[in-house]
Amino acid sequence: MALKKDNHSVDNGDEKFPKDEISSLDSKNLDKKKVIESQPFKASKENNNENGFLDFGFNQSILNSLRNKGYENPTPIQKAAIPELMLGRDLLGQAQTGTGKTAAFALPLIEKLTDNKELNAKVLVMTPTRELATQVADSFKSYSSETSNFKTVAIYGGTDYRNQISALKRKVDVVVGTPGRIMDHIRQGTFKIKGISCLVLDEADEMLNMGFLEDIEWIIDQLPENKQMVLFSATMPNEIRTIAKKYLNDPAEILIKSVKKETQLIAQKFIYVQRHHKLNALKRILELNNEGVIIFVRTKLLTISIAEALENLGHSVAVLNGDIPQNQRENTVDRLKKGFIDILVATDVAARGLDVERIKLVVNYDFPFDKETYTHRIGRTGRAGRSGEAILFVNQREKYFLRNLENSTRTKIEEINIPSNKIINEKRMEKLIENVNESSLNQDENEENKALIIDVLDNLKENYSMNESSIAKAAINLVIGNKSFFVNEDDSWIYKQNNTDRNRSNRNANIRSRNSNRRNNYQNDSFETYKFNFGKFDGVRVANIISSICNSTNINGRSIGKIQIFNDYSLVDLPKDLHRETKNKLKKIKVRN
Ligand code: AMP
Repeated sequence: MALKKDNHSVDNGDEKFPKDEISSLDSKNLDKKKVIESQPFKASKENNNENGFLDFGFNQSILNSLRNKGYENPTPIQKAAIPELMLGRDLLGQAQTGTGKTAAFALPLIEKLTDNKELNAKVLVMTPTRELATQVADSFKSYSSETSNFKTVAIYGGTDYRNQISALKRKVDVVVGTPGRIMDHIRQGTFKIKGISCLVLDEADEMLNMGFLEDIEWIIDQLPENKQMVLFSATMPNEIRTIAKKYLNDPAEILIKSVKKETQLIAQKFIYVQRHHKLNALKRILELNNEGVIIFVRTKLLTISIAEALENLGHSVAVLNGDIPQNQRENTVDRLKKGFIDILVATDVAARGLDVERIKLVVNYDFPFDKETYTHRIGRTGRAGRSGEAILFVNQREKYFLRNLENSTRTKIEEINIPSNKIINEKRMEKLIENVNESSLNQDENEENKALIIDVLDNLKENYSMNESSIAKAAINLVIGNKSFFVNEDDSWIYKQNNTDRNRSNRNANIRSRNSNRRNNYQNDSFETYKFNFGKFDGVRVANIISSICNSTNINGRSIGKIQIFNDYSLVDLPKDLHRETKNKLKKIKVRN
């Protein structure tokens, strides 16, 4: 197979990335790698170039379905991966969802199978979850919608075998499924795999996280040896590299650096909130934004109780957790997409791979277990080039994790306040005015209603002697309903909590910085070590030494360096060149009397 060596630059649509930008996925075969700094791609309608997909040599039916989808230009990963896959090469890609990776592998595979007459599947795509399987299968279906007799079947657990078996009996080109169910069908002989010529592992790292390694290897071993292999993974841990080395044959390697997607398109924020105020804080946040929201919580039970609480407040809300049957989950996602539901309360597993463009806000109600989970959660917003917001709830104990998260994602997560009554009431007012104004702009649209409105006005004026101003007031009153329009419940806890938390946080920051000073002053020649004749036997602790020094001298606690307490003496690093008077005071200091 001819190799296209591309070690210079990758055209990212708007800019060229020089050779320096190329970083490695792996130390081997550096010259074959494409590393693309993926700017979040613009929604295609904003692009002017209408022929973006023509260069790949796709047949007309694929181009037609892309036109129907409104895709005009390939995303960076599509630009990089499609030519390689059209050549039949294996491919190792590091890219997250939201980059357009599904089309990157689906389109070349559909192209190859366009006139496929064989009964049994030629392509197998493995995904970690049912949700992703359905989503990938749906993508195949829509990209092949204009290709005659092209069949994609999704097979995953949690649903009846019968439909899957009968679908697999008919002509099928692509099977998309989760490892467990794929194994079952292979074992039962209901999935004929002799004809498979391409295997795609999608979100491979997630499959490993979920413990599918053995199953995946078992499946690979059953498949024909001679096949194209494509492996996509959001991260590249060693296990993935090992699999890639073991099974992929001289793969093209593509890395889409998607860090910018999160930092650029998703405004990442956090609020300090004590555990018992979380629900209240959530309600307040939803006052400002309640259309297209996903709330992530840790347990199934919590999804239900939170959804109930929000429903009681009048929100249109649904739950997505592992206990909800598959077909109901699909229905929920569909209703969310169509706008029948505004808020989804979900657990991590249930929301894997969820791709709903209208999600504007992700609330991390419970702190995510790790960076990957966080990145996945917030990636549910900012889809397809839109912007989004992610709010993380942080309590005192979790502040440490917050800093870790910021470091590992190399992102500054901005602190915001829980909305106070004042902010909420301003927002309510703004919305009311907006609604009334919008309604006045729309009132001419429906001729029938227009006549009705005039009739009602005439009637009110004539029969009830109401003037226009009093009618307008009454109409607004009707919109508001008879509950109190403004929130006036006690919100002092928000201020108190912010103050205590900040104070505590400052205090902690001081302690942290003192500790790190203490750790670092080995290399620091601005300190001098002082020996004091009290130690462990005297029951002395670090805090006692700091307070005695600070109380007896003008030395600031922050400028005290390393403190070592031995049995009968202690060594304390203090700033060099202390004033003589301070030194005298130090000689006299007493600890714990
Ligand atoms: P994926 O990374 O495959 O989950 O795709 C993320 C989103 O981008 C999906 O909603 C796709 O429909 C959309 N998408 C993929 N390729 C393109 C493209 N070339 N132009 C516009 N939208 C796209």
